[in-house]
Amino acid sequence: MNIILIGAPGAGKGTQARIIEEEHGAIHLSTGDMLRATIKSGDALGQDLKKILDSGALVPDEMMIEMISHRISQPDCQAGFILDGFPRTVGQAKALEKMLENNNRDLDAVVKIEVDEEALVERISGRFTCKECGEGYNDYFKKPKVENKCDNCGAVDSFVRRTDDTPDTVRERLKTYHDQTAPILPYYKESGLLQTVDGMLPMQDVTAQINAILAPGAAESASES
Ligand code: AMP
Repeated sequence: MNIILIGAPGAGKGTQARIIEEEHGAIHLSTGDMLRATIKSGDALGQDLKKILDSGALVPDEMMIEMISHRISQPDCQAGFILDGFPRTVGQAKALEKMLENNNRDLDAVVKIEVDEEALVERISGRFTCKECGEGYNDYFKKPKVENKCDNCGAVDSFVRRTDDTPDTVRERLKTYHDQTAPILPYYKESGLLQTVDGMLPMQDVTAQINAILAPGAAESASES
């Protein structure tokens, strides 16, 4: 199963991708996580990338296409992948199509997670994660049961916030999404792959909607008209 999750920053792509990965066995590929890992390594490229991420702009297509092309050719992706954060431009979408064609692989679905933007700013500016296990939290609606302690793995003082989750960068990231990423939606709509789920519902209901899309035979009967 090869799928793409699309949605504005904070729509819940990463959360849903982690759940789908567990339930369906496809590999979760987050380009944002890959870039943050490079930044963490501290080399010169990482420093340049950090400037781009902290500004809310996009990393050049060429680099992202190369990164994903290399990653999806790895053996662990042969059973399927969930793309979270790629493609983010029409150029990336076209390059992905070629990449898959060259490898005789198809996309099964492109799922857009729709959320209202007021909610997004709150979601993003309040979010933090446990750096030990990746569990996500939010100041507004999902605080840990014990302050500073991860509910999931028990780690203490392990919470981290993304440096691009500040209000100014969030606004810029939303603008980037509208200007550069939203234009890929008609591209997938035309190909009949685009499906939309309501990202304002509780997390498990969003998962249920995605699972209904991914159920065998669902694609033919439910493509967005
Ligand atoms: P994310 O974790 O998906 O919100 O991505 C964080 C940041 O990484 C974005 O705001 C971009 O600066 C950069 N980024 C992630 N994926 C891509 C991509 N496919 N193309 C360009 N930039 C990306």
